[in-house]
Amino acid sequence: MKPIQMVDLVSQYQRLKTDINLSMQSVLDQANYINGAPVKQFSKDLAEYLSVKHVIPCANGTDALQIALMALGLPEGSEVITPGFSYIAVAEACLLLKLKPVFAEVNPQTFNLNPLEIEKHITANTKAIIPVHLFGQCADMETIMAIAEKHNLYVIEDNAQSIGAEYTYSDGRICKSGTIGHLATTSFFPSKNLGCYGDGGAVFTNNDALEERVQMIANHGQKIKYIHDAIGINSRLDTIQAAVLLVKLPLLNSFNAERQAVAAKYTEAFKNHSHLMPPIVAKNTTHVYHQYTLQTCDMNIEDFRTAMKLKGIPTMVYYPLPIHQQNAYIQAVSLPICESIASHVVSLPIGTDMDEQQVDYVIETVLNYFKA
Ligand SMILES: *Cc1c(COP(=O)(O)O)cnc(C)c1O
Repeated sequence: MKPIQMVDLVSQYQRLKTDINLSMQSVLDQANYINGAPVKQFSKDLAEYLSVKHVIPCANGTDALQIALMALGLPEGSEVITPGFSYIAVAEACLLLKLKPVFAEVNPQTFNLNPLEIEKHITANTKAIIPVHLFGQCADMETIMAIAEKHNLYVIEDNAQSIGAEYTYSDGRICKSGTIGHLATTSFFPSKNLGCYGDGGAVFTNNDALEERVQMIANHGQKIKYIHDAIGINSRLDTIQAAVLLVKLPLLNSFNAERQAVAAKYTEAFKNHSHLMPPIVAKNTTHVYHQYTLQTCDMNIEDFRTAMKLKGIPTMVYYPLPIHQQNAYIQAVSLPICESIASHVVSLPIGTDMDEQQVDYVIETVLNYFKA
C-alpha cells in the first residue's frame, strides 16, 4: 500500500506531470515570470468557472484578505465580525490594518459562523463580516447577507477552503462559494483543493469599483505605472504558478468529487459510532472536504492520534486553540462552542489520489482502535 499522507501531492503531480511540465516549460521558455499571459488567462478562466465578474490574482490567501480589507478603506478601529474557531489569517490581516476582529460563535454542527450570533456583536463601529467557509462547506450566506444589508456592512467571504463548493439560495438559485459577498478571497497553497506549486491567492468580486481598488492595492497603489494614488502592497501570482493552475482548474470538479468519495466512505463507516461524529453538511451547501473533520466524545484525542501514527496514519487537529485564546490575539471573551470544538476535533487524511485500499485501511484502523 502507498504510504498514507494527510494530503498526497506527489501522486497527483505524477498523474498530471505531462501537462503541468509542458505548461511550466512554456513559461521558462518565454521568461515571462511576472504578469505573463497565463496569469491573465487563469483569472479569466477562474472568473468563468465561478460565474463572478472579476478575479484578481495575488501572492497568497492571507494577502488576499489584507488587500480585500484595504480595498474597503475602513477607518482605524473598525470592527470586523468573524468566527472564533478558524484559521488565523482573518484576525491577522485585521490587526495588521489596525482593525478590530470581533470573534463570534460558530454553529456546533458545521463549524461555520452562526448568523444568529452576529447581531449581538454589532456596534456603531462594526463595518464588515468575514465568514470563513471552513473545511469545505459554505456558511449560511443568505442569512449573513441579510444581516449585513440591514446594518449596512460589507461581507468578505474567506473561500480558501471551499473553492468549487456550491451554495443554494432558498429560492433555488445555485451559485459557487465565494460569489455572494461584496468580496471573496482564496488561497492556492499547494494543499488547498485548487493548489499551485508554491504560494498563490486571489480576490473575487462582482463590484467594478471594488475590483479597481483591489487591482490597484495589489499593485503598489498604482493604476498607471509609477503614478501612485493609494498606499498599496506588492502581491502577485507569478506566471509559473498560473501555468500550474491553468492545468488544474479544469480538473477542480473531479478533484472535489474524489475528496467527496473518500468522505462518503468515512461517513458511512463512522455514522453510528459512539465516540466519533462525522461532519454534518448544512442543507444549502455542498461540501468539498478540504478537511474531513470528526467531532469526538469521551475519548483522548492525543492517545488516538499516537495510535494512528504508529499504524502509519497521520491525523491533524484543525484548530487546537480558538483565536480569542491565542497569545497574540487574546481577548477576554467567552465562546464556549468555539472552545469546545477546538478540544474535540480531529481530522483524517483526505485528498485526491487516495486509493480504496488506503481509505479502507484508515477506516479499519480507526474502528479497531475502539475495539481494543
Ligand atoms: C489557507 C488559508 C488562508 C491563507 O492562505 P495562504 O495562501 O496560506 O496565505 C486563509 N484562510 C483560510 C481559511 C485558509 O485555510
